[in-house]
Amino acid sequence: MLEKRDRILTGDRPTGKLHIGHYFGSLQNRVKLQGKYETFIEVADVQALTDNFNHPEKVKKNVNEIVMDELAVGIDPNKATIFLQSMIPEIAELTVFYSNLVTIARLERNPTVKTEIAQKREIFGESVTYGFLGYPVSQAADITVFDGTIVPVGEDQLPLIEQCREIVRKFNSIYGETLYLPKAVVGDNKRIKGLDGNEKMGKSLGNAIYLSDSDEEIARKVMSAVTDPGRIKKDDLGNPDICMVSYYHKLFGKDPKEIEEIEKECREGKRGCVACKKQLIKNIIEVLEPIRERRRYYEERPEEVKEILMEGTKHAQKIAKETMKRVKEAMKLDYFA
Ligand code: ATP
Ligand code: MG
Repeated sequence: MLEKRDRILTGDRPTGKLHIGHYFGSLQNRVKLQGKYETFIEVADVQALTDNFNHPEKVKKNVNEIVMDELAVGIDPNKATIFLQSMIPEIAELTVFYSNLVTIARLERNPTVKTEIAQKREIFGESVTYGFLGYPVSQAADITVFDGTIVPVGEDQLPLIEQCREIVRKFNSIYGETLYLPKAVVGDNKRIKGLDGNEKMGKSLGNAIYLSDSDEEIARKVMSAVTDPGRIKKDDLGNPDICMVSYYHKLFGKDPKEIEEIEKECREGKRGCVACKKQLIKNIIEVLEPIRERRRYYEERPEEVKEILMEGTKHAQKIAKETMKRVKEAMKLDYFA
């Protein structure tokens, strides 16, 4: 019997800086939970390479950016372990073992993989790589090598966690009770939409407001956000339900009355889009400024950031080795032990 364990495993791909979708979708949750459960945050550089294999410099550069973003939102390295995926060889090893437990047809049916392949036609053309198709297997290794049982994620990740659970069940049924069964945890903001109205704000989709954007960048992006296309003149009656500005007001507005008022005035054609956007810019800056300030602290101290990642990785390596010992015993691969 495995002893009971409550451990958080979550992560980000270093494909770009973190954005407000991450903030409302997962980072706030991480900050809240980090004191409650043992927490591991993976900077998934190997996974980032699956669709950026020809841009290693981009992945490398963004490792640092992601760590600074994490620290800026309030991840405390004394409470949470931030580590680098490529420094944990056990993940690659486990991926190989798990790949026997997954069929190609099942991977091709995974809804997240399907959507992402469709979005990445310019990278893969008509035929996707073995590495990308198999990334859910490697993600199952990420989670299970740390005995992650609680996995706070956005909605897009749910099919991947489901696939991980299938792998765990299959592994345990063949080799005996060895792996912990993870559970996905999604917050209220499970999927933040993009500036372009896309169902998902994503680093790789070019529709994001980044946590580190300057006042000018925020203003430029909000000014060009998708609004009700039927509203041309200020006194046209608007439909906030199809307006991204109204959508973000709900996330950033502190006062529910103000949010209600904004919607009402829009519907009645009393508040113009420009005034509405200016108010949103102000609200976003107010929320992001303390985050940007903490980020500046770390930007000026690259050695401190490196140290945090190195220490976190060392701790993670120790845990991964322990799990691997258990896995190899179960699989009868414990030669010379
Ligand atoms: P990429 O486009 O490179 O995949 P991404 O923006 O999807 O980048 P990830 O690093 O893949 O970011 O995801 C990190 C975590 O953030 C995951 O748990 C994911 O579900 C969550 N997440 C990403 N985008 C959003 C969003 N728009 N709303 C809510 N959660 C999100
Ligand atoms: Mg993603």
